[in-house]
Amino acid sequence: MSQYVIAIDQGTTSSRAIVFDHDGNIVSSGQKEHEQIFPKAGWVEHDAVEIWDNTREVIGTALSKANLTRHDIVAVGITNQRETAVVWDKTTGKPVYNAIVWQDTRTQSIVDELAADGGVERFKQKVGLPLATYFSGTKIKWILDNVDGAREKAEAGDLIFGNTDSWVTWNLTGGTDGGVHITDVTNASRTMFMDLETLSWDDDILAAFGVPRSMMPAIKSSSEVYGTVHTSQLLREVPVAGILGDQQAATFGQAAFEKGGAKNTYGTGNFLIVNTGEEIVHSKNGLLTTVCYRLGDAKPVYALEGSIAVTGSLIQWLRDNLGLISSAPEVEKLARTVEDNGGVYIVPAFSGLFAPYWKGDARGVMVGLTRFANKGHIARAALEATAFQTREVLDAANADAGVDMEDLRVDGGMVANDALMQFQADILGIPVIRPKVTETTALGAAYAAGLAVGFWKDTEELAKNWSEDKRWEPNMDADERDRQLRLWKKAVTKSMDWVD
Ligand code: ADP
Repeated sequence: MSQYVIAIDQGTTSSRAIVFDHDGNIVSSGQKEHEQIFPKAGWVEHDAVEIWDNTREVIGTALSKANLTRHDIVAVGITNQRETAVVWDKTTGKPVYNAIVWQDTRTQSIVDELAADGGVERFKQKVGLPLATYFSGTKIKWILDNVDGAREKAEAGDLIFGNTDSWVTWNLTGGTDGGVHITDVTNASRTMFMDLETLSWDDDILAAFGVPRSMMPAIKSSSEVYGTVHTSQLLREVPVAGILGDQQAATFGQAAFEKGGAKNTYGTGNFLIVNTGEEIVHSKNGLLTTVCYRLGDAKPVYALEGSIAVTGSLIQWLRDNLGLISSAPEVEKLARTVEDNGGVYIVPAFSGLFAPYWKGDARGVMVGLTRFANKGHIARAALEATAFQTREVLDAANADAGVDMEDLRVDGGMVANDALMQFQADILGIPVIRPKVTETTALGAAYAAGLAVGFWKDTEELAKNWSEDKRWEPNMDADERDRQLRLWKKAVTKSMDWVD
């Protein structure tokens, strides 16, 4: 009888469940989008209950499509949108507020307050992150400060926090009936509270934020049996055995196990991760230091990360807010109606600018407009914005590492876009490579879970599953590339000027 691993990918726009076989091939999947809630400019929320309901539904879809039962599944792996903060009551199982999503910028004043004493880098040496609205810490504080009675309940030990990995795991393993309250090192490294050396919560930082330690999940490795699925659930008694934040999971799924291995994921935002091995490297160029993964009791592996807030979500914005296209893939057709960007540049600083600038108060701009510009140019400029932003974080990674990357492994929803991938290779000046399985995020979580239960032997065995599907070679002369980059950087300065 064949056996499989199921991965739950609780993403920003949707939740997926994907069944993988031993060769790392997709056997079946289920997917469901959840509502993006925008109560005010700069606020982004999800309904955590809807997310949990969707998660259960997609598990059912994936199993039934392939005619599988829990007896065919050896382990569950979980990957998730990182930083998104859920605070819930452990006795009722109910969230006290919607999940505050990683893109949300409402906590800028909390950032400013905390930064007044020591600057935005005051905790960076310990946690690898600057103070920014992006990470979970300020979101938890906002909930405790703003939801009626939340602080008292938290101090009494009734409220607990988690990113969506913890929320899903707690529910899957029984919720109010004995659910385990845990997270893995990669998710923990995105809260602002975990010491990168000791891999434990730092009491001084928790105190500076006013977050009780009792709210925090236990920090586990990325690959071990955390518990089993509760008897009331579909996969009952199957071990939950792997957790990785989505970007770390994609790195794992791309088999970037060696120091220097890297991948770039094109989803709602873009995330470049470079494996730095057992060394904690502090960036001098605006990148984050984060945990890449930890397998059981082995030493943790660290990474540098270039996070870009808005890439694929700019395409969603063209679709939902401007009505320029009716589906995301249509942007390619529209972009191909014109020869070039016609001088138009869009800097989508909707959530401020993340790496390498970290300017929370930057705002989006579109520059270079003339009477000539049409919607084709805007579509093109939107796609190019993704490639320019990627070039900037790659430059930062090369500067930190002191060596130039020779090619780039890519994945995520936007890599289906051929025009974008070609432009990306052109603007980087190195080949861009897409693997056969582009669902690397789910695959990475499946790998972590499968390793823990002996379904796969070691990372060497996993690396053999990776194979190239397509490669784009650079095809732009250096002068033109330099001209484009110069104009892009000029546009970025405009987005930073735009402060009320
Ligand atoms: P996430 O995991 O962050 O939810 P995905 O990896 O599923 O994201 O990618 C979805 C994103 O990719 C969406 O923001 C969507 O706008 C964008 N996208 C999907 N297909 C295309 C395409 N063909 N061209 C450009 N963007 C696309």
